[in-house]
Amino acid sequence: MLRTVTTAAVGLGLLASGCAPDSEAPVKVSVLSRSSNGQYVPTQVELTTIEDIVGLKGTVGDLQGGARIVIDPNDPALQNATTDTVADVLLKNKGHDVKASYISQKDERTGEDVLWPADFHSWNMVTSYYNLERANEYFRTVADVKVASFEPSPTLYYFPDFIQAQLGKEPLRDNALFYPVLQSFLVLPFDQIQRAPLPLNAGVMAHEYSHLVFNRLAYATQALPVSLTVWSSESPSQGANVLKAFDEGLADYHAYGATCRSVSGCDPRFMAPSFDGGPFSAVTDARDLSRGDRCMSALLYTRVQQQDVGTFTADGAEYQVGTILASALYQAGRSTGQEAQLQRDIVSAYYDTDPAKPGIYQYTQMVLGDQSQFSLAVPAAAIISHISDLELRKAVCNELMDHLQIPRELLLGDNLCPASAAGGTTCPSIFQ
Ligand SMILES: [Zn+2]
Repeated sequence: MLRTVTTAAVGLGLLASGCAPDSEAPVKVSVLSRSSNGQYVPTQVELTTIEDIVGLKGTVGDLQGGARIVIDPNDPALQNATTDTVADVLLKNKGHDVKASYISQKDERTGEDVLWPADFHSWNMVTSYYNLERANEYFRTVADVKVASFEPSPTLYYFPDFIQAQLGKEPLRDNALFYPVLQSFLVLPFDQIQRAPLPLNAGVMAHEYSHLVFNRLAYATQALPVSLTVWSSESPSQGANVLKAFDEGLADYHAYGATCRSVSGCDPRFMAPSFDGGPFSAVTDARDLSRGDRCMSALLYTRVQQQDVGTFTADGAEYQVGTILASALYQAGRSTGQEAQLQRDIVSAYYDTDPAKPGIYQYTQMVLGDQSQFSLAVPAAAIISHISDLELRKAVCNELMDHLQIPRELLLGDNLCPASAAGGTTCPSIFQ
């Protein structure tokens, strides 16, 4: 999840009466998308997976409005919930189909009809769907994820009342998140976002979509992942801390990868359009993947090993570790000119039953009873063993030994790092 809380003036109140076209894919429609000069402008696109352009439902997602979701740890019903009943307990109101309205206009160049959203929410909703479609396409094509892994298609709760009782009674705002318990995305109402609202930001939506893919593969589609749940109930919880850090770091790296397929090009600062100039502008710099000088500190390394997950995540340490991981992968991919190959190899490491190169999910099952064995080196090894190109593999080895300070001896071996991988010289060793 994008932990950041942000803001936004909803100032695009276009008043118009819309029609209700009954269209199936492909549908030509205008969305708000980043142009080559970085501005968000109406852009004509073709939705290829849509089944209901008014209700915004298709094979990559189903938008639902008006839902109410309450997480109250003191609710006896939640305490007694099972995997099968937890969604019903959390969803106080399941919501309803959204209803986007459009005005049909003829494109003067092509003579074809194009649907123009008729009000702000219609722009926002159809762009949200479009961004899900693009993220899905990235994972199908670049990362080679099988279509079956995306089924059933997730719900996207649009502007739900989302209440976390521990944080207060007011519905939360200004966030976009993937909520595995419901296998759903939540796009919360805006309050203070200054520039591009989160669902319009294709990189932000790709980050959330990456969490869906991580859940479907590295957590085997478990709504309450067994590894994370068991390990989070223990203290210290190294395994849970490592999983959370990898989930976040890989989500940022794939979000970056998805931007490379857009007209505005590869963007290691993809959060800038939403956060710059606002109260959370520091987030862009904190998560900038192109900074090559990020280093694991002795303190952060110890926190991964020795803290319980609640303490570890209270100040966002999973994002700090995740950003070091993501920028290390960024360096390895760039320096070898093999970014797309690396992105594909990473996803292939999430789930793999081959005993010669187990996936992240398989590693969690092997050490489920002893999470002290699930160090940063374990999911790193899963990724490394899935990189077949030797030059790329060595580059990833060197970056992870250097920036994440994973001890070299833990990464050497058959199917792992070659003996010639010696680490790097950017970061000072924390093992003195
Ligand atoms: Zn996230």
